[in-house]
This record gives sequence, C-alpha cells and structure tokens, in this order.
Amino acid sequence: MNFCGKCAAPLSRRTPPGDDRPRDVCDTCGAIFYENPKIVAGCIPVRAREILLCRRSIEPRSGFWTIPAGFMENEETTQEAAAREALEEARANVHIGSLFCYLNIPHISQVYVIFLGRLDGGFAAGDETLEAAMFTEDRIPWAEIAFPAVEVALELYIRDRRRGAFGTHTVDINWRAGEKRPPDVLSIGGA
Ligand SMILES: [Zn+2]
Repeated sequence: MNFCGKCAAPLSRRTPPGDDRPRDVCDTCGAIFYENPKIVAGCIPVRAREILLCRRSIEPRSGFWTIPAGFMENEETTQEAAAREALEEARANVHIGSLFCYLNIPHISQVYVIFLGRLDGGFAAGDETLEAAMFTEDRIPWAEIAFPAVEVALELYIRDRRRGAFGTHTVDINWRAGEKRPPDVLSIGGA
C-alpha cells in the first residue's frame, strides 16, 4: 500500500511501538495496516470412484488442473467457502464433509483448508475454468496439477482411500509449483 485507506496520506513502512515487525503506518492519522495470511478453502468432490477436477482458465497456472478451491470471503465459514468455490468453478453442488487436510504455505502466506466432498448431480465449466472433468485414480494428470498443495491433497486422498480410512492431515508446503519437492513428502502415482 502507498496511501492510507482512511485519510489518504502517504504511508511509511516502520515497526510500530510494541510491535516486532514493520507495517504500513500512517503518520498523519495513526492507522496501522496489518497484512495477514489468506485462507484458501476447497474440497475434493467425489462421485463413486471418480474425483472432479477443474482446468484453470486464469493465471496463475492457467491450463493446469485443480480441485475447486479459492480465497474465503468475509462473513462465511470455511465449509461455505468450499461449497461456493465448487459451485463457481465447476457449477457443482457438493455436500461438504469432514475436514481432510490443511496445508501451511508460509512462503506465500496462505493456508489451504480442504474438506472431503460428495458431488451431487452434474457439473460444468464455471467461471475461471476451461473444463471440468471426472478422473479415476489412475487417470489423474499429475504432471498438470496446478499447485503443490492440490497435488499433496490428492495424494493423501488416494492413499487414505486405498487403506480404507480417511484421516485429518497437516502438511507444510515449502516448495513452489514446478520445483522439486522434498523427499520426505509422500508421493504416489506421480509423473
Ligand atoms: Zn491516515
């Protein structure tokens, strides 16, 4: 930010008294503008043995596949956000189930909150989506998955389904799309 959202005066970057890191501070009216991590809410929509994925039509990672997920809006729950994203991105009514995993991505200040989901009825490409399609486990386009968090969530899902029990998982993601990921993070099916 360059200018104060309250009084429009120029902002300066400094550590306020009693704080431990620099913030955008207005020297005219005293307002302090905090930046905090964003929450991405989503689900893994499943019908029978197939998973619904969306191919993105927008940057970042246009043309790559993802589960329906996106930034929470104010005044909604994470479950509501996950259902809304499925409706917007895949025109899909998804019954949101248990919390499946949350993934910390500190280097981009995001947290993914992913629920299990049951697809009810049909689907179609929605806003921000080139196409929506169902994939069996062996057809997931691993080399074309948009984001590391989505790749890991899908792997966890398939691993849990194979062993017949869904857990709730916490994963720290510290690599970027296209980068080689650390060897201690699970890997199944990968391309
Ligand atoms: Zn101000």
